[in-house]
Amino acid sequence: MNLDNLYQEVILDHYKNPENKKLSVEKDVQVHHLNPSCGDEVTLNLTLESGRISNISWEGNGCSISMASTSIMSTLLLGKSPDDAKKILDSFMELMQSKGSAKGDELLLEDAVAFAGVSKYPARIKCALLGWMAYKDASLQVEAKSK
Ligand code: ZN
Repeated sequence: MNLDNLYQEVILDHYKNPENKKLSVEKDVQVHHLNPSCGDEVTLNLTLESGRISNISWEGNGCSISMASTSIMSTLLLGKSPDDAKKILDSFMELMQSKGSAKGDELLLEDAVAFAGVSKYPARIKCALLGWMAYKDASLQVEAKSK
């Protein structure tokens, strides 16, 4: 099996069996993000407790890339400190801006390296980034609230 097939399987698997896809009752903030060029949308709830992401849950509709990427993002960031989450987010953003030249830091990004190939297709980068941008927005709002 070549790497592209393996990656496609990771994406399809998260699309069919998404993680954390059920909005929590309690949350610090809720954000709603759209990707009009593809019709993807994500609502994301974020809760921080004792300096950790204690809850990150979401609901959404859209293409397999946007839904799988949001699912993987939620599994990667749950339980992390906001600083560690930012490192993962920055690393994923860098991968998405690589135009297909980067493979991604597997230690940091784990299953999210499956989206490396997506960075070759400008129209799909927004799909892959939708959930991550929703997290970024939510984390900035939580930070602003706590000041
Ligand atoms: Zn999409």
